[in-house]
Amino acid sequence: MENLPLFEYYPPLLKHLPHILLAQFPTPMEHMDSLANRYDTAIYIKRDDLSAMAYGGNKVRKLEFLLGRALSGGAKAVMTFGAAGSNHALATAIYARQTGLQSISMLLPQPNAYSVRKNLLMGFSTGAELHHYENQLQLNLGVIYQMQRHLLRDGRLPHVIPPGGSSPIGTLGFVNAAFELKRQVGEGVFPEPDCLYAASGTMGTVIGLLLGLAASGLRTRVVAVRVTPPPYTTAGRAHALYAMTNKLLHDADPRFPVIPFPENQFELRDDFFPPGYGVFTETIVDAIQCAKAAGITIEGTYTGKAFAALLADAESGALRGKTALFWNTYNSRDFTKEIAHVDYRALPGEFHRYFEEDVQTLDPSDRI
Ligand SMILES: *Cc1c(COP(=O)(O)O)cnc(C)c1O
Repeated sequence: MENLPLFEYYPPLLKHLPHILLAQFPTPMEHMDSLANRYDTAIYIKRDDLSAMAYGGNKVRKLEFLLGRALSGGAKAVMTFGAAGSNHALATAIYARQTGLQSISMLLPQPNAYSVRKNLLMGFSTGAELHHYENQLQLNLGVIYQMQRHLLRDGRLPHVIPPGGSSPIGTLGFVNAAFELKRQVGEGVFPEPDCLYAASGTMGTVIGLLLGLAASGLRTRVVAVRVTPPPYTTAGRAHALYAMTNKLLHDADPRFPVIPFPENQFELRDDFFPPGYGVFTETIVDAIQCAKAAGITIEGTYTGKAFAALLADAESGALRGKTALFWNTYNSRDFTKEIAHVDYRALPGEFHRYFEEDVQTLDPSDRI
């Protein structure tokens, strides 16, 4: 039943790394015809936007391992963290409910956007607890309070999932994703990409891919496009997360090699981050429009920045004659029906501002 490529290469991992199936793998790989001619570059897209039926995107790969671990430890609730419109908090809420776990989202302010409104309504409709804090200090106090509350109620503490799901356990989902890519390339339908572009938020995606590529023997270079400030994306965190995830795998199956951080296979790109997390710029909006013309929906906080970096490199001629892969980490499953009848006034009062205040002027996504 378990057909994860990672488990096929390293069967002993199956015994040591609890995992549940939430997604439909492999996700499709497609050629972006309309762009290839314009830039003399073979541009492919990895459709992780279609990774699962209820809600796609990159978080479900991590949650297969994170919720697997929570359930195997007998957890009743999971607590996680993010910005108000966090896709990770929403994905956790959706898949926690599906697996019978209560979900607690501890959220911080972010620039307003239509996607923030949608995610809040959807998260609320799953029955997740949503808590909003003005800053990290208040959130830390909130964690202590909510931990106590759930301990009294459930007789045990909630299982904690870090921001973005980027613990070594969550990162395993993207080590597996690289083995999945290896298999798709091995079937001969796709060439080995020279480089892949992905957004770097909490780094689990890009570091899992990097480790998996190195372990599976693919030479594809990872271009990690910064979308968050330190401490979420830093070179130091990249190395630490890489080493911890590698150790986790090696300890679970000594046949999984210990591989030094492949410096020349990894590039951290900062140029599309300013002016900051969740803020859209003209360049980002252009990239979103370009993707839209090719039939792909992306957004401004993560994928628009990663795709803008790919387009800029194609435009500059740096990718001429090469094969580039865009890893689409954004959910494309439509959930407007599920939220159509949710009234924002039913949410805790701290969230009403996202519905009562304007969204940022450049927000191109669907109105709500
Ligand atoms: C969370 C997220 C990312 C970033 O992934 P990390 O593993 O946190 O770096 C990228 N794109 C989208 C759409 C996301 O929701």
